[in-house]
Amino acid sequence: MKKKIGLLLVAALLISVPNCTNADGATKVEINGKQVVYTKEAGAPFVDDTGRTQVPFRQTMETYGCTVSWDGTEQMAIAQKDGITVEVPIGQPYIYRNGIKVENDTAALIQDGRTYLPIRVVLESFGAKVQWNGDTNTVVVTSGGQTTGNGDIQVHFLDVGQGDAALINDGEFEILIDAGVSAEGTKVVQYLSDYVDGDLDVVVASHEDADHIGGLPAVFDAYTIEEVVDNGRTSSTKTYQTYHNKVQAEGADYAADTAAQNITLPSGATLEFLPITDVYDNANDNSVVTMLTYGDVEVLFTGDLSSDVADANSSLFSDVDVLKAGHHGSRTSVSSQFLQTTEPEYVVISAGLDNSYGHPHKEALSAYLNTGADVYGTFRSGDIVMTTDGQQISFDTTEKLTLSDVGAKSNGTTPVQKPVTQPEQPSKPVAETTVTYVGNKNSKIFHRASCSSVSRMKDSNKVSLNSRDAAISQGYRPCENCQP
Ligand SMILES: [Zn+2]
Ligand SMILES: [Zn+2]
Repeated sequence: MKKKIGLLLVAALLISVPNCTNADGATKVEINGKQVVYTKEAGAPFVDDTGRTQVPFRQTMETYGCTVSWDGTEQMAIAQKDGITVEVPIGQPYIYRNGIKVENDTAALIQDGRTYLPIRVVLESFGAKVQWNGDTNTVVVTSGGQTTGNGDIQVHFLDVGQGDAALINDGEFEILIDAGVSAEGTKVVQYLSDYVDGDLDVVVASHEDADHIGGLPAVFDAYTIEEVVDNGRTSSTKTYQTYHNKVQAEGADYAADTAAQNITLPSGATLEFLPITDVYDNANDNSVVTMLTYGDVEVLFTGDLSSDVADANSSLFSDVDVLKAGHHGSRTSVSSQFLQTTEPEYVVISAGLDNSYGHPHKEALSAYLNTGADVYGTFRSGDIVMTTDGQQISFDTTEKLTLSDVGAKSNGTTPVQKPVTQPEQPSKPVAETTVTYVGNKNSKIFHRASCSSVSRMKDSNKVSLNSRDAAISQGYRPCENCQP
């Protein structure tokens, strides 16, 4: 998902109102290359006071392939497709996507007895791409893939040894928080290739320590980044300078966390930057602190923040479901006040096997365990993936830590190999010589065999596709870079 397109669209729509030079002035809607012909009974699209295009509900959504209904009691239009239900209450600045509220800056309305919907927010909820062509006054809608199909979002806690790296994956929208040490950069790039579609939307660099930003230059080399948020501090270390040069060269939108806008993901989830404004001597204490909220579920990332600073800012913290343990499970990042405030049900410790710091420390691990939380560690489970629909939370590991895991000592077992998810359709292994297109069964995006994304793709995710039509009929959609 491209945030910039969304912003451009807003701008284009706002500009388009006074500059309406189209011959008949009528706003048109094109869905997957075909113009929607609105019957007289259905009404016609128009641009509302806020510059948003409103479209007749039933005819637009049916053309997109939705099943539509109307809840007269709740005054709510309902559209369903591919397991996604979008409910649009009349006159309210929000919609519901699979029961989760998505804020919007305009509302559906009834005019001349007809129901009109703000097209962008509604169709983007179904994973569609919505663009504006000012020359022809046309809203151009392209169906998305199935990547946002089930309304789940995932948080991946990557095993980067002694360091931090977390990926938030919301369909086509991805946020990376840190990337471990420099030597882990390649692993992070490889891991992301299964999830990143075109651009990587947001990179958050929590603080300037090498075990957090060291791997980011490799990520900057491999992907186009749309937005970078860090703590706004500089450092004279070579690691920081390398990172800083990449940020400058990337030309992405940049903001320090204290000035950064909170981010709304396509599912309606939000990533909030907690406004800790004081500046501290210790780099760890200047960590960017972020809270991911999706429906009833909160996930807190505190970087390496100490509990002293967290407790000094305790009014900013609240009850969470999942806590990425501060500072790799260090005793300096946990206090009884902090745990009473955050009350995590799950704690994930990102630390390296046999690390030289003794992480997780006994005081910290026992404090986490004493809350009754399930505690997981990347040094035992490898990469850890949590999935949530905004209500339920599941983890792809069952290897709960106990006090015997203090110090992340080798215990003779290697991290468990998780079963690879099978594709929905049977697929042939990729044979180099005959392949025309290569699909990624995880992202449901297909590429030309020569696309750089293919070289980064895990073999286990590759699916051979003989033709463009075959790819599309199996639910794949074209890569935006190689445009197969
Ligand atoms: Zn660290
Ligand atoms: Zn491609």
